[in-house]
Amino acid sequence: MSKSIVECLLCPKKCKLAHKERGDCRVRFNQDGKLMTLIYGKPCAVHVDPIEKKPMFHFLPGTGAFSLATAGCNLHCIFCQNWEISQANPEDTRNSDLPPEAVVELAKRYRCRSIAYTYSEPIIFYEYVYDTSQLAREQGLKNILVTAGYINEEPLRKLCEVIDGANVDLKGFTDRYYREICFGRLKPVLRCLEIMREEGVMVEVTNLVIPTLNDDFYLIEKMCRWIVEVLGDDVPLHFSRFYPRYKLKSLYPTPVATLKKAGEVAKQAGLKYVYIGNVPGQEGEDTICSQCRRVVVDRIGYQVNAFFITDGHCQFCNQKIAGVWE
Ligand code: SF4
Repeated sequence: MSKSIVECLLCPKKCKLAHKERGDCRVRFNQDGKLMTLIYGKPCAVHVDPIEKKPMFHFLPGTGAFSLATAGCNLHCIFCQNWEISQANPEDTRNSDLPPEAVVELAKRYRCRSIAYTYSEPIIFYEYVYDTSQLAREQGLKNILVTAGYINEEPLRKLCEVIDGANVDLKGFTDRYYREICFGRLKPVLRCLEIMREEGVMVEVTNLVIPTLNDDFYLIEKMCRWIVEVLGDDVPLHFSRFYPRYKLKSLYPTPVATLKKAGEVAKQAGLKYVYIGNVPGQEGEDTICSQCRRVVVDRIGYQVNAFFITDGHCQFCNQKIAGVWE
């Protein structure tokens, strides 16, 4: 490799960048043989969200998550629900100047229990996430990654040292789907999920069900069996409803019946905690105890109405409920 070429080893794309060239994520570039980032401390989206919105259902329910994102992403899903920022250059978004210290300060001021790196793809603002997470930990806050999980093993293991919870998108269960629809590969995402579990991160999985593209129940069942066998039957799985966006505007929203059937398939495969998301007012948002079948977290939308878990156990039958509850 020429001396001025730099290889980015953050994600499986391993971009080889000439001087001033940017990676596929639009935010990392080669400056005089050194890999630099354009978005450190420059979020384009900052909000206080209920943690349920991430979605994280087994992580400090009913609390606020200070949520932020920068421009850019290392995948290019044609259905992206946040494409205005994820598929934008950082010079085309309106960015704040918010160094890690300011993020932690604001999170505390708004009484959030966690900071969520979310909306676009936190992997690509890795250094910003890492430094903020370290500071947040020191101040007693937790850190949540909402990610597609497209990252190499070494940086991921290091990041897991400061991350407490993650919602990982498992977008489909074939490599072809990842290649043709998302411009990535499946295997690194599966490996990311394994590593996060090994490293003790509280992992939840989201599968966005898209009509005609990934709503094949045979593949949904295969995915669920993989989760049970490799990650464990206590990993919460969210089936999320697709709405027409970005390059898939002509497709119809996922029928609620499809989501319900996917939920049944997942439970049949052995998953204990299965949710249906993005469908306001529907059932499928409560956490049910896997032993006594009573509702232990009663939710409507992003709001928690009742909570029956003490020290991580069901108040009715003392069954352990996976999650971070205190
Ligand atoms: S993080 Fe960006 S620059 Fe680095 S390998 Fe991935 S897409 Fe390329």
